Amino acid sequence: MPRLSILLSLLLLAATPAGADEPALKYDDALLRKLRVAAGSVPGALPREVRYLKFAESPRTFAATVEGGDRRPYIQARTAYQLVYPDGWIMVDAGMDEQVHRFFGRGQDEPYDAQANARIQQALLGARAILITHEHGDHVAGVLRSPHYAQLAPKTLLTGRQLRTLVESPQMPELRMQPRQRDDFTVVDFHDVLPVAPGVALVQAPGHTPGEVMVYAKLENGREYIITGDVSWSYLGIDEKRLKPRAQIERIGEDPVAIGFQLDWLNALQAQGIQMLVNHDDIVQPRLVRQGVLKQGLLDDAAR
Ligand SMILES: [Zn+2]
Repeated sequence: MPRLSILLSLLLLAATPAGADEPALKYDDALLRKLRVAAGSVPGALPREVRYLKFAESPRTFAATVEGGDRRPYIQARTAYQLVYPDGWIMVDAGMDEQVHRFFGRGQDEPYDAQANARIQQALLGARAILITHEHGDHVAGVLRSPHYAQLAPKTLLTGRQLRTLVESPQMPELRMQPRQRDDFTVVDFHDVLPVAPGVALVQAPGHTPGEVMVYAKLENGREYIITGDVSWSYLGIDEKRLKPRAQIERIGEDPVAIGFQLDWLNALQAQGIQMLVNHDDIVQPRLVRQGVLKQGLLDDAAR
């Protein structure tokens, strides 16, 4: 009899569709090994530098950014990244137009750099591929609402989960995609890691949003980076393994258990020397620029 129940549960397992019931990813050394193998699996010259550009700011406090944070001001920068190869580049995240920016101000007038966003649009136009860390407006609107949508969409890689959110439950009405727009994009489903370019691979990180991914990159100088998206809004979250404040977790609908495992993992990887890039940071990354670890400003066709 027990045998039969085991058999039945196995059959039930086999019948369960992939997706919500998929076993959660384990963030451990084996996943790091797999991520490195994936990034090394695409032949070609490795990227020579990582660049970034800030296009907007949301003045907040540490208290509104990280669990147990104090009342000191904390600028949440909004940024886009560029992985530069000898013969081209890949963009990670896409900026946003001013209308979407206003959504994040929640009625306040927050700093927005229209010129920086225009440079991001140029860099997107010149990019070989566009990767999106997650399906929130400040990361994806620069493709979805771009005047150059027809050129950008086919080289933008969306995950199945990102697409599903954008079609079924977008962060704001301006981001809603029609199901037929699926055909405009390169849409990929993968369980854990995905090779995308020489030295570059994605790792799934559902939690902040269902479609969150992190981007691993290894440069020709051997240095490794992880662009961490919104797993944390500050380096404090990774350094001290601290979640976002409870009110933010509830407002966004985050999965704090999943994010807790991701923060543990990033903390351990950082201790091994992998350079974290936290998209909304405005304290550490300017320091990384001074150290030459990260370059400020994006290359576009005019600069090449
Ligand atoms: Zn964000």
